[in-house]
Amino acid sequence: MLHPNSLYYDFLKPEELTFLKKAADFCQREIAPHAAEWEEKEELPRALFTAAGRAGLMGMLAPKTVGGQELSMLCFCLVIEEIAGHCGAFAMNMAAHNALCVGHPLGYASDELKKKVFPGVLNGDWMVAWALTEPNAGSDTGGVETTATPLPDGTWELNGQKIYITMGNHSDRMIVMAVTGKDEKGKKEFTAFWINSADTTKVRKVKTSGVRASNTSEFHLKQVKGELVGQRGKGQHAALACLDGGRLGIAAMAIGLGRSAVEIAKQRMLSRRQFGKRIAEFQALQFMLADCEVELRAAEALLLQPCIMQARGQRFSLEASFAKLYASEAASRACNSALQICGGWGYTRDTSVERMWRDARLTEIGEGSSEIQRLIISRALLKAAEEKYGLAEPPPAKK
Ligand SMILES: Cc1cc2nc3c(=O)[nH]c(=O)nc-3n(C[C@H](O)[C@H](O)[C@H](O)COP(=O)(O)OP(=O)(O)OC[C@H]3O[C@@H](n4cnc5c(N)ncnc54)[C@H](O)[C@@H]3O)c2cc1C
Repeated sequence: MLHPNSLYYDFLKPEELTFLKKAADFCQREIAPHAAEWEEKEELPRALFTAAGRAGLMGMLAPKTVGGQELSMLCFCLVIEEIAGHCGAFAMNMAAHNALCVGHPLGYASDELKKKVFPGVLNGDWMVAWALTEPNAGSDTGGVETTATPLPDGTWELNGQKIYITMGNHSDRMIVMAVTGKDEKGKKEFTAFWINSADTTKVRKVKTSGVRASNTSEFHLKQVKGELVGQRGKGQHAALACLDGGRLGIAAMAIGLGRSAVEIAKQRMLSRRQFGKRIAEFQALQFMLADCEVELRAAEALLLQPCIMQARGQRFSLEASFAKLYASEAASRACNSALQICGGWGYTRDTSVERMWRDARLTEIGEGSSEIQRLIISRALLKAAEEKYGLAEPPPAKK
């Protein structure tokens, strides 16, 4: 399924177009025949990650100097969209891996740590997880309770608990956010650490509604040795910057799921007959289809904007929130409509529409829920208004 919106291609370099086509072939060959089976087994095979690494999918945004593909954010998003069309769970893993697990050390690790990290995290040799969330810290990262204490040999010791971490218990290495003290204002100081996942204590694979094949993990950290990723106290800043790219990946995943579900619905509309005619002839369903297409195209347009800004070297945090918020909710609506169009068959596991519908729901929660995106957007709008108008008194009442 290469993208129907050819407008995108005008923004891609010829080598990116080639990469996108190769990624589509990879999806057809390595993912499409197995996605339903992985869903049933609730597991993604390790060999898939190795193959993805060898195909360049684990280092899409990293520069060539460290062994990456050096693709633009737009090309990365289109690849994630393509993968999501076949398997939401693997798309989520690739989105998080490239933006967070690679992006964080790439942007912030010391040269010494980078030598250890690259190219292992890019070529599929290492699976890496990115662990921020805890039982008391989700939307509010201030609730992080995992601590890191300096040891005499220059390393750190981490103690705490993490939950809902993608591939956490299947990873080889992890980036873990921990509290290392308080800043001058008395606020918790966050720092990122590189740890060996074998040193953690696995608790369980958390059973999820969607993205079942992904290993959503819970684990403890008990006297786990860690190495600084970036400077002490700069963990939150780095995490937020990486999440900008992460949110675009999740938006792309959402669009891929929505598009794929709608494709199945279209085929069903043409093949299924009721009341002596094809269900495609019922206007109620035609209108659902039209709404899905318009909303998915709007989501694509909103995703294009931050991608262009990234290519220009501009900050795109706010635009990432627009894209993530709209794309995730539009995709959920599209998958819901697609399922409705498919009727009882859509609700069964004989088709992948119901899987996509469950997978899409995750995109409204992970990497900052819809409410948190609305918070970010409204705060930015009000801050800009305050700068424009000042803290004005209410206008005088008309007499
Ligand atoms: C499948 C899956 C994979 C994940 N992978 C990872 C991972 O790899 N690494 C990682 O660190 N985390 C991961 N997470 C965690 C994910 O990022 C969090 O679930 C998400 O940020 C929401 O946090 P929460 O679940 O604690 O919800 P809560 O923060 O408890 O929120 C509950 C509800 O309150 C709302 N809410 C919270 N604060 C506000 C507010 N101020 N105003 C209005 N509404 C508010 C939320 O939007 C939500 O509706 C994953 C989660 C899932 C389900």
